[in-house]
Amino acid sequence: MDCIFCKIAAHDIPAKTVFENERLIAFHDLFPQAPVHVLIIPKVHFSTLNDVPQGESALLGEMMSTATTIARELGLADDGYRLVMNCGANGGQSVFHIHLHLLAGRQMSWPPG
Ligand code: AMP
Repeated sequence: MDCIFCKIAAHDIPAKTVFENERLIAFHDLFPQAPVHVLIIPKVHFSTLNDVPQGESALLGEMMSTATTIARELGLADDGYRLVMNCGANGGQSVFHIHLHLLAGRQMSWPPG
């Protein structure tokens, strides 16, 4: 499958990795939208949130808790940060392998664009 995030997960293309275990890998976004912009992805391929079966909900929880761990480790927890997962065309998703955005280092606005 020609998926750029599968290739990053397999270490076939480089990324600035900040975390990795058997199920997840997290790395800096190539086009950061904030001073800190990290993507947390599962190594297994799901195109969108709609494709994640209920039985895999623990994986989504692990993505979220890993984001909080990374935020703490990068010293972002006290000032705060934003976690975002875009789903599908209207959600603004451009890479069709699910990923959680961790954005930090500036004041976020609301509502998002
Ligand atoms: P989304 O628009 O929610 O699908 O987010 C996809 C994100 O992946 C964007 O923020 C891109 O900048 C980022 N991205 C695309 N290709 C790469 C890459 N090779 N390494 C790191 N981040 C990437």
